Amino acid sequence: MKSGHQEESPEALKASLKACGVSPHLTQEILRVSEFHTYPAPGVLIGAFMVDYALELLGVTPDKKLYGVCETPKCLPDALQVIAHCTTGNNRLKVVPIGKFAITLNAPSESDTADAVRVYVDLDKLKKFPTIDTWYANSPAYDKHTMKGLLQEEIFRAGRQILSSEQVRVTVHKKKKWISVSCKCCGETVPDYLIEGEQCGACGSMKYYERLS
Ligand SMILES: [Zn+2]
Repeated sequence: MKSGHQEESPEALKASLKACGVSPHLTQEILRVSEFHTYPAPGVLIGAFMVDYALELLGVTPDKKLYGVCETPKCLPDALQVIAHCTTGNNRLKVVPIGKFAITLNAPSESDTADAVRVYVDLDKLKKFPTIDTWYANSPAYDKHTMKGLLQEEIFRAGRQILSSEQVRVTVHKKKKWISVSCKCCGETVPDYLIEGEQCGACGSMKYYERLS
């Protein structure tokens, strides 16, 4: 099977992490995230450091119930899913396609808001890490065929040094009460708060397939 990422064996990854001084605990997390993602993409590697940092800033361990927001759909959500157990399925992960490499993490809150920590890739700090900097900027100067190994090593050596954090407040979305309503168009049912006038999303603004029969 040709995966395109065959050279990235877990053993090689582990050895590289060790050589770069990454802790055994974080090494395990990085291996888990990489496996889940199917390969150690630069974004999930940085993501693992980000989530690890956010957990520490929040003073919590991943066995606690946590809520995360990810500001990009690329790579980074998987670090939150695997390490902090904020998943799309358990509804504790929100992915907002802002296009920034940033996350927020917070503990449950009874009020309408929650104090959260936001961790982001700091452009000023990236200047000390030229390979990450060119990759992050999507610069033509980054050649993935020749610089992939260098990038990975720089990510491991940099760890948190490319990250910054801030205290923020996020809105807490309470579970909504709902009733089931039928779509006038397809006859299938959806929760009332998702109906678009008289039709469901699949018949309306979220249409993504054509029926073949
Ligand atoms: Zn419908």
